[in-house]
Amino acid sequence: MNSQSPRQSDVLVIGGGIHGLSTAFHLALRGVKVTVLEADYCARHASGVNAGGVRTLGRHTAEIPLALSSRELWHELGSVLGDDGGFVASGQLKLAENPAELEECRRRVQQLQALGFDHEVLIDQQQVFEIIPTVARHVVGGIWVKDDGYALPFRTVTAFRLAAEKLGVQVLEGTRAQYIEQSGSQWKVVTPAAVFSAEHLVITAGAWAQELAAQVGEPVPAHPEGLMLMVTHRVAPFCAPTLGATGRALSFKQFANGTVVIGGKLIGALDFPARHGEVDMTRLSTSARTVTDLFPHLKHLGVNRVWAGVEAFTADDLPVIGASRKASKLSYSFGFCGSGFQMGPGTGRRLAQQILGEHSDLSLAAFAIDRFTRTTSADALATHQHAAPITNH
Ligand SMILES: Cc1cc2nc3c(=O)[nH]c(=O)nc-3n(C[C@H](O)[C@H](O)[C@H](O)COP(=O)(O)OP(=O)(O)OC[C@H]3O[C@@H](n4cnc5c(N)ncnc54)[C@H](O)[C@@H]3O)c2cc1C
Repeated sequence: MNSQSPRQSDVLVIGGGIHGLSTAFHLALRGVKVTVLEADYCARHASGVNAGGVRTLGRHTAEIPLALSSRELWHELGSVLGDDGGFVASGQLKLAENPAELEECRRRVQQLQALGFDHEVLIDQQQVFEIIPTVARHVVGGIWVKDDGYALPFRTVTAFRLAAEKLGVQVLEGTRAQYIEQSGSQWKVVTPAAVFSAEHLVITAGAWAQELAAQVGEPVPAHPEGLMLMVTHRVAPFCAPTLGATGRALSFKQFANGTVVIGGKLIGALDFPARHGEVDMTRLSTSARTVTDLFPHLKHLGVNRVWAGVEAFTADDLPVIGASRKASKLSYSFGFCGSGFQMGPGTGRRLAQQILGEHSDLSLAAFAIDRFTRTTSADALATHQHAAPITNH
């Protein structure tokens, strides 16, 4: 493999969010020469502006093994990257506000146990009050995951970036991939500044990834959304765990500085051509009401800042992760449907293994890009056999 020219690497990664930089970092750990092309600046989009939830709780069952594996890495991030991204193992609690919701929680935990997962634990009202004494008295129980938590998004992505650069990864910001093409054994990526090439190409371009996948004939039924968040003024500590709700949208956490971040996949407006989401204040107020129902003492707490980020949602609410089915030496990781920050560390590690042809017990079959179009079991078999590792270093 010729790696002499600055525009030539072993692997080109398109997208400098958590997935691109985590993949680049894990490849560089194995001695692979990687260049990351980022259209704006690293962490400019979803990875840098999300709610920071590190949540395995409530995941689609297909995602759970990868999410649990990623969570292991979150707990080790400080020693792996030299910066823990502000990760706090606060635990995550999903509240049930009435008996019907508690029953739903019970069924969920039973279903997971039948599948061999015991990370989600059903707790009763008393246990909820012990974990969070300030919550409203109508709460009747919930699901508790003690090893989940939260982190600081921009800091985490920057930690991956700096660790990757230390290992020799070249990160080029303001460098948008316009056109991709495989020519012989090389992928060519055309940007306004130059043409880059590499043996293997990785597309981690978030909500824009599907445009690039379509260029190689792999369209994905996905659509972008603008997701909103708000952060309050500081308030005395009252809530240690990260919270969600069963019957309504909520993601809620109080940071060490006293501010409270409130979200929960709240859809705002989107200006996709301008590459940014916009806030819809009416919808945000619904979310604020959920919070004051659960914590009446916050009724007069002011909101300090609101914002929105762009995220891609696929038709089946699962991401696309793994090898292309149309072209060799092309891999994808995108479409995380509002929950991909938690998945970043582990998915980057797993994708690097796939690219290097290493064995892993963690199957990516559920995330295959052709699942939307596959019709026969023969197709499914081909899916599992089509992997194109690059040379291991
Ligand atoms: C408001 C909000 C709250 C969220 N809260 C949570 C949460 O609490 N927990 C959780 O787990 N997840 C959360 N998420 C989801 C999570 O942020 C995303 O799933 C995750 O960050 C996706 O990472 P990514 O690297 O795939 O994409 P991105 O972070 O979007 O990165 C993709 C990058 O690719 C670049 N790019 C695009 N096209 C090109 C191109 N042609 N050439 C070069 N570069 C390109 C973009 O500029 C961008 O920087 C939230 C998302 C939002 C928006």
